[in-house]
Amino acid sequence: AALISLVRNSELEGIEQSMRHLEARFNHKYNYPWIFFNDVPFDDTFKARTQNLTSAECFYATVPESHWSLPKWIDESRFISSLEYLGAIGVGKGWMISYRHMCRWNSGFFYKHPILDDYDWYWRVEPDVHFFCDVDYDPFTFMEENNLKYGFNMNILDDARSFPSMWRQTQEFMSEYPEFIHPEADFSWIIDHKNDGEYNNCQFFSNFEIGSLDFFRSKTYNTYFDYIDRKGGFYYERFGDAPLHTLAVVLFLSKRETHFFRDIGYQHDINKQCP
Ligand code: GDP
Ligand code: MN
Repeated sequence: AALISLVRNSELEGIEQSMRHLEARFNHKYNYPWIFFNDVPFDDTFKARTQNLTSAECFYATVPESHWSLPKWIDESRFISSLEYLGAIGVGKGWMISYRHMCRWNSGFFYKHPILDDYDWYWRVEPDVHFFCDVDYDPFTFMEENNLKYGFNMNILDDARSFPSMWRQTQEFMSEYPEFIHPEADFSWIIDHKNDGEYNNCQFFSNFEIGSLDFFRSKTYNTYFDYIDRKGGFYYERFGDAPLHTLAVVLFLSKRETHFFRDIGYQHDINKQCP
């Protein structure tokens, strides 16, 4: 297992904050390696200062350009219009090109980086997050022993204007590939029953995740990701990895394979989970 973080060189202080907390609350007892990802190489200061905060091993991976660039099937002018439109109507970070690449990378590429080949489990950590409670057990072995695939600790309703087509495309996917849907898939909590079976936009807040890499590597997940990716919603809209992971977990796993880490006190910006 590994603690993984996509982070910029400029977010060094933020990731130091997150590392201090997670090391003190958990990792100094377990020494899981930290793996940092960046779309550009990490600088020496970043490497030295992150290594200073842990006795675990640290690895620094650069994201290949093919995982962080506009795919050839994207119509650039439609993409530019979307940046202008979502920026103008005030969808958070709607105008940022890098944010689109980031969401797509977290959706369909993080688990493809060869540095993760030998790992089964990941815990996603962002800069500037807080961990409030001692974690006196190993969540990775807990997941393995209980046959869990996906762990979360907050749910949110994100700005639905960033992914208006995701649910319709997902429904199309379900009718094309019914064999991929888990027989015990539980849609009840993501459907808005007052609104014609629409997606209610409830989603796992994916900046905290403890998950199985094999789940994301599966043919099922990748067929779904490729299907959605081909339709261009990461660039024509601002599809987030949070709703995409959520829909995938709902479609492809049974509820018994997901876990609410309610005991892990956590904060990301204004969102907080306090047990
Ligand atoms: P938000 O939580 O949705 O507001 O998104 P963030 O701005 O926090 O980005 C999510 C994660 O991706 C964080 O870990 C960021 O550090 C990282 N991230 C976002 N954009 C970039 C980028 O352009 N380059 C790198 N290296 N990391 C990024
Ligand atoms: Mn964030």
